[in-house]
Amino acid sequence: MARIYTLVNQKGGVGKTTTAINLGAYLAKHNQRVLIVDIDPQANATSCLGIDKHGVEQGSYQALLGGVSPMSLILKNDRLNLSLLPSSQSLAGAEVELVDEGQRNTRLRSALNTLQDDFDYILLDCPPSLGLLTINGLMAAQDGVIIPVQCEYLALEGLGQLTSTIQKVKAALYPELNVRGVVLTMFDRRTNLANDVVAEVNRHFPKLVFQSVIPRSIRLAEAPSYGLPISAYAPDSVGAKAYNALATEILAQDKPQG
Ligand code: ATP
Ligand code: MG
Repeated sequence: MARIYTLVNQKGGVGKTTTAINLGAYLAKHNQRVLIVDIDPQANATSCLGIDKHGVEQGSYQALLGGVSPMSLILKNDRLNLSLLPSSQSLAGAEVELVDEGQRNTRLRSALNTLQDDFDYILLDCPPSLGLLTINGLMAAQDGVIIPVQCEYLALEGLGQLTSTIQKVKAALYPELNVRGVVLTMFDRRTNLANDVVAEVNRHFPKLVFQSVIPRSIRLAEAPSYGLPISAYAPDSVGAKAYNALATEILAQDKPQG
């Protein structure tokens, strides 16, 4: 059985995609079979892995709404040992089209269910909204939600809304839904503010904040323009080390006890 984690935060630009790609890349380096699922019409995860979204004819849209078997839509990068279910422009219409579909909340979950034996980790990269694509992402988050939080002023703003959405989905639709963890991103240790944010987020999510904090690093921001994860672009950078540490932390926690 794969572990399925959904990267979610309706706030834009907090590091969802960067975390999906780089956590995924390091899980793959630790010999895990990893699939990144891009369910954001912006297709940033797809671009970050060097795929031109305009050239993607079939992707997560077809898995959600086209009845196409997701396995046939997966692109495999052998060098990175990483698989991608890409996004494409057609996904922009999915938010509206899903409204009239049966099982509109669980279509992604059903699609990914067919891949359970083919991967060890499936990471879903959500758009910055709480619409039907994100709800599909939450309903597919079999092993929990990972929330990236940017270490900045007003970091907690919007987290109340996110928590309440998760609680509502949990209560009404999916009682097993849980928060797997919170990743602090773009941490800048030179500022007092960043340390305050870390303390505040820890108070808000006791025991759920990952020890591995992702620093602000120019290399992490540059890597996407080369279509590479940080593990391939700048493996010695501080950002690379931080994402490797996060992957190691998650692997250690996920290891079956006994
Ligand atoms: P969206 O909500 O638009 O999908 P997101 O939450 O996926 O955004 P990212 O795209 O991962 O956020 O990051 C936003 C921007 O910040 C990107 O340009 C990315 O390269 C940059 N970035 C992310 N993490 C870091 C970091 N630790 N250090 C420096 N830059 C970063
Ligand atoms: Mg993104």
